[in-house]
Amino acid sequence: MHSANVIIVGSGAAGVAAAYALRKQGVLMLDVGTTAPPIALDGNFYALRKNPGSVDLFRALIGDEFESLHNVFHPYRTPKLKSPGMQFIVERAARIAPVESEGFNATQSFAAGGLANAWGAGLYRATDRDLKDFPIAAHDLDPYYDALTDKIGLSGADDDLGRYFGTARGLLPPLDLDANGAALLRRYTRRRRALQRAGFYLGRPRLAVLTRMHERRPAYGYDALEFFRAGNPAVYTPAITLKEMIARGEIVYASGLVVERYIEDRDGVRLIARVLPGGGRREFTARRLILAAGALGTAKIALASNADRVTRLSLLDNAVSYMPLIDPRRLGAPLEKEFFPAAILNAVYDGPCWPEPIQMTLYGAAGTLRSDFLFDFPLPARDAIAAAKYLTPALVIAQLFYPDIPAAENSLRLTSAGALTIEYGQKKLGALEPRLLRLFRKLGYFGASRMCKYLAPGSSFHYAGSLPMRRAPRGRYETDPKGRLAGTRGVYIADAANFPTLPSKNHSFTMMANAMRIATEVGRTLS
Ligand SMILES: Cc1cc2nc3c(=O)[nH]c(=O)nc-3n(C[C@H](O)[C@H](O)[C@H](O)COP(=O)(O)OP(=O)(O)OC[C@H]3O[C@@H](n4cnc5c(N)ncnc54)[C@H](O)[C@@H]3O)c2cc1C
Repeated sequence: MHSANVIIVGSGAAGVAAAYALRKQGVLMLDVGTTAPPIALDGNFYALRKNPGSVDLFRALIGDEFESLHNVFHPYRTPKLKSPGMQFIVERAARIAPVESEGFNATQSFAAGGLANAWGAGLYRATDRDLKDFPIAAHDLDPYYDALTDKIGLSGADDDLGRYFGTARGLLPPLDLDANGAALLRRYTRRRRALQRAGFYLGRPRLAVLTRMHERRPAYGYDALEFFRAGNPAVYTPAITLKEMIARGEIVYASGLVVERYIEDRDGVRLIARVLPGGGRREFTARRLILAAGALGTAKIALASNADRVTRLSLLDNAVSYMPLIDPRRLGAPLEKEFFPAAILNAVYDGPCWPEPIQMTLYGAAGTLRSDFLFDFPLPARDAIAAAKYLTPALVIAQLFYPDIPAAENSLRLTSAGALTIEYGQKKLGALEPRLLRLFRKLGYFGASRMCKYLAPGSSFHYAGSLPMRRAPRGRYETDPKGRLAGTRGVYIADAANFPTLPSKNHSFTMMANAMRIATEVGRTLS
C-alpha cells in the first residue's frame, strides 16, 4: 500500500495543472497512462509527401488498416483522432470505461496527458459573463491564468477579441497568418465598424503554440503535421509538464491503473484501483484526493464510490456546428505548405440574434486528408476529387460552440454492470447560421445553410457539469467553491465536472486555472 499527501487521479489538463500547483508537496498521480507509439515523421507535411526519403508515408499517414480513411466509410470522427500516430489517445477506451448511449458521442482518453494530446491548443480566459453561474469570478482565476500563461507560452494578440478573451498580459506574438487568414482579417479591418454594429468581432486565437523559444522548447516550425503526430514540443500539452515533474522528482507517477472508487475514513482516503492488463486490485492511501479523470471519468468514480446506480447526474456539452465558407478569389490558388493546421482566427457573434456571445473558430482545410471534408460537398465523388485541388485553398470552416446549461433530459448514470449510460437530446440548431452566413458574405465568403453540419452531441469533447461547484452545495454530488465534494472531508473535483454551466468557449484553460486554484486550496489544508 502506497501513501501520499495528495493523490491526483488523471494526467490530463486538469490533473497536471493541479499537480503543478502541488509539486514537491507529496503528490502521487494515478493514471492509466497510455503512451504514443514511435512515429518516424519529421519535417513538413507537404515536403514529406513530395520527398518521403526513408519514411513509410502510407503507414504513417493512412495506416496499414486504412485508419485515416475512416470518414470515407464510417460516421464522422475528428481527423485528429484517427491516424495511426494519434489513435493511442483514445486507445482501449471502450474496454476500460464503456459508455452506453444512443445519441451521445462520448470520447474518453486514457493516455498520459489525456485528450489534450490531440487538442487544437486554443486556450481562452473566461470573462465574468462566462462565469455568471459559477461561485467564483474571473479575478479568482487570474493568478492561475497568469502562472499558466508563463509556464505554457501562449501566443496571441491584444485585439478586438480582448473583451471576450481577457487580458493579453504575458502573451507571445501571434503565429504567422496564412493567406486565408490574412485575407479575412484584411477585409474585416476594412469593414470593422459596420460588422461590429451587427455584432461580429474577429481576431487572433490564443494558442499554446510557441512563436519563440520558451522554457527550452523551440518555436513552431509550421510543419503542419498535427493531424498525424502528437508531441511537437512547440505545441504545449500537459504531457510536457507531466514528464518534467516526473523527471525532476516533483511528483510520483504510477500508470497502468484504473481507479475504481475511493473510501474515506478518519485517517484519510483509500483508493481501489484495477491493475492493467491483469485485472488485480491495488490500494493507495492519502490525506487528500483530487479527482481529475476527465468529466465523465470523475463522475463515474464519484457514483461508484457511493455504490449509486440510481442517481442521474447532469451532463453538459457544447453543441457544435460547422459552416463551410468559400472565398471565390482563392479558388485554385497555390496551396500554402507552411502553416499551423488548427485555428487561424477566432470570431465572436455578440448581436441581437442570440442571447449571449457565440464563439467561432475559423480553420483552413489544408493539413488533413481531402477525404475528411470533400464528400460534404454536393458533388459526385469523382467530381469532388477533381474539385479538391481548387476548393482546398479557398475553403474556410467556421466552427461554432453553443453554450450549455443543465437540463433534465441530459444526464449520466452508472449501470449495474459498472458502465456509464448517457442520455442527451440533440439540440435544435440552425437559426443562427444563416444570419452568420450573411455576415461572412459581407467579407467576401460564400456559404449555404444546407451545407452547414450539426455534429452529434458529445462531438465538442467539452464535457462538464456532473458535480457542479455551488456557493452552498445542495447534495453529495455538488462541491463547494473550493472544489470539495459535499459530505466528504478530503475529496476534491478538479476537472470540468465541477462547471455549473458551459459558456460558448473552449473551456480547458479555465478548467486548468480552476484546477490550480483548487489544488492550491488543498495544499493549504495540509499544514
Ligand atoms: C481534437 C480535440 C481538439 C480539442 N481542442 C481543444 C482546444 O483547442 N481548446 C480547448 O480548450 N480544449 C480542446 N479540446 C478539449 C480538451 O482536450 C479537453 O477538454 C481536456 O484535454 C480535458 O482534460 P481533462 O483533464 O479533463 O481530462 P482528459 O484529457 O479526459 O484526461 C483524463 C485523464 O484521466 C485518466 N483517467 C481517466 N479515468 C481514470 C481512472 N478511472 N483511473 C486512472 N486514470 C484515469 C486518463 O488516463 C487521462 O490521463 C480538444 C479535444 C480534442 C479531442
